[in-house]
Amino acid sequence: MLKQHCSDRARGCRVRGVAIRTVFLFVVSASTALAQTPAASQNSAEVPIAPPIVMNLDLSAIDKSANPCTDFYQYACGNWTKDNPVPDDQVRWVRSFSLLQERNLYGLWQQLDGAAKTPVGPVEKQYGDFFAACMNIVELDKKGLESIEPTLKRVSALNDSKGVAALIGDLAAAGDPAPPFHLDVEPDRKDSSKYLLSISEGGLTLPGRQHYVGEDSRFIRKRYLMHVVRMFMLVGDTMERAEGEAATVLAIETFLAKASANRADSSDPEKRYHIHTFAELQKLAPDFDFRVYFKHVTALPIETLNVPNPDFLKTVNGLLAFVPVDSWRSYFRWHILSEQAAALPRAFRDEDSTFWSSYFRRQEKPPPRWKQCTAITDQAFGDAIAQEWVERNFPPAGKAGMEGLVAALEKALADEIQTLPWMSDETKKTAERKLATIRNRIGYPEKWRDYSGLRVDHNDFLGNWHRNAVFQRDYLLSKVGKPAGADEWDMTPTTADARYTPSMNSLFIPAGIIQPPFFDGAADPAVNFGGIGAVVGHELTHGFDDLGSKFDAKGNVREWQTPDDRKNFAEKASCEVAEYSQFGAMPDPNDLPHLKVNGNLTLAENIADSGGLRIAFRALTDALVAQRKTADHEIDGYTENQRFFLSFAQLWCQNQTSRSAREAISADPHAPGRWRVNGTVQNFEEFGKAFKCPKGQPMDPEKSCRVW
Ligand SMILES: [Zn+2]
Repeated sequence: MLKQHCSDRARGCRVRGVAIRTVFLFVVSASTALAQTPAASQNSAEVPIAPPIVMNLDLSAIDKSANPCTDFYQYACGNWTKDNPVPDDQVRWVRSFSLLQERNLYGLWQQLDGAAKTPVGPVEKQYGDFFAACMNIVELDKKGLESIEPTLKRVSALNDSKGVAALIGDLAAAGDPAPPFHLDVEPDRKDSSKYLLSISEGGLTLPGRQHYVGEDSRFIRKRYLMHVVRMFMLVGDTMERAEGEAATVLAIETFLAKASANRADSSDPEKRYHIHTFAELQKLAPDFDFRVYFKHVTALPIETLNVPNPDFLKTVNGLLAFVPVDSWRSYFRWHILSEQAAALPRAFRDEDSTFWSSYFRRQEKPPPRWKQCTAITDQAFGDAIAQEWVERNFPPAGKAGMEGLVAALEKALADEIQTLPWMSDETKKTAERKLATIRNRIGYPEKWRDYSGLRVDHNDFLGNWHRNAVFQRDYLLSKVGKPAGADEWDMTPTTADARYTPSMNSLFIPAGIIQPPFFDGAADPAVNFGGIGAVVGHELTHGFDDLGSKFDAKGNVREWQTPDDRKNFAEKASCEVAEYSQFGAMPDPNDLPHLKVNGNLTLAENIADSGGLRIAFRALTDALVAQRKTADHEIDGYTENQRFFLSFAQLWCQNQTSRSAREAISADPHAPGRWRVNGTVQNFEEFGKAFKCPKGQPMDPEKSCRVW
């Protein structure tokens, strides 16, 4: 789907292992989530002992031996990074997002574990049973391959490439993995008042196109082949046969990867909008009978749909002509095994975990099963679980406080836009109108979803998974052609993250992030504006940046900046490309000093960091004036403004494994924590004033970059 912005993309939005939270509302192939969840420890007795302690501004984290004017990150985070190594089941450990996610996960686990043992009502019984079935690895081991045998038989019965469309439809109808297409439903890009079906590229196992085509990923591909061979051998194939099948799988996936959009194209809304009638769709791939395929997937008539990447469909058509039928059988068998490994006997789970956790993510040990099952159940029953969670963790005062804060931030952004020297009056007017119509979704949806139609069996994890996949798909497809813009959420309310979605012109701030260290109803305004305020400010600016300016107030694709404004924006932005490209990419500056941050890849997020901080600061200044406080008012030895910057900086205190940092250089659109702090404050003259830095020091340079 359309590229979205979340505040901590590296943690969850793209990396296999945790990218499960966006799966259900917009992604039809829900079973892919099974493959995307963390590979799990096999020890079901391993349950959490206590939640991590999460606090807002922490003065003990400060390294007072460091000079805030030379390296503010070291000053604000030095003691924290020293005392908080990356836990064994993680590769990156961030003081804000990681700790809060762990705390939320712990709370959810308690709730699910309780519901599994002593449910108090029908909904609790549903999600309690779902969770219990996932946790019951004894049952999975006992069942062996019994659960997937019918599916494997269906695949074995494929005897002609012409039958591929029916097979994929059949798999999808049963809730099984059904590559290579990705069905999605989202607001029509050019008429956002209604939902539209889209069919785009999918069908890969490794997380992205670059893993199949990049020269630097050749070792990953080699190791991936070994993994595929081992999985096929576990299902009973000889080594010789398994090797042939693995080579086939990699070859088909490589063709699909080459036909998939690259990063630039996949985030260009114009390039991803190609409306087709059903007849036109069929012409793209004459050998794939879409009528047969859709007949299995939905009873709804499909008249028009978006085909974001028509070439991908043409490639699949070409493959149907020359890939032998036994190769297709290998490909589908592989996806059935790989995407559902978490529901298979121990040998499969171990092999899956060895590849994904130990090799691919280089975790010291895989995350425990309870984390995986908690995350999967949360994805399946998001609203039902959140209802109780919100009652315990998100009081009405928290919602009211957050609403006030967002209103203050939006006013600050409106004021900021007024003062921008590079933006024309005409564009400013359009920007203000867009800002005024942003839909703020705070905490949780106004209407909770009903899950009563989803049947759950206490002892049948894979069956539950399949029924859930079908339930979610039917829910999603039921929206096609209907009015969009209702109170629809694309993340669960317990998620510790925030997002701006341009195609809906909506800001999502789930209850899961309206918690310390981001927000604390008892904290002083400086701490909250430096925390959640900077995050929300960051998200708001995304509505007006390079991508946001291609979507209008209704969420329709329409460029609303004048060409001159776009040019000015790009010119201002180029300063930050040069600035961030000088920063070292590794957590330890002595480790591989030649590796630098990619200033182009991280540009949009760096601009948003700087803009978000300015907006939050402006809103804090307004709040202090309203409270008749001066900025030099001190609490615990720090002025209001100093506390604001410290609260902001401490969001990004983090440790990361060397391997994970190296991978982030080419994949993560966010800069490392050190530079999200130092790069941002050195672009903001108010920081130097707050800490009384002599002009010319690293954090208060003579010349700095400014877009917002
Ligand atoms: Zn962002």
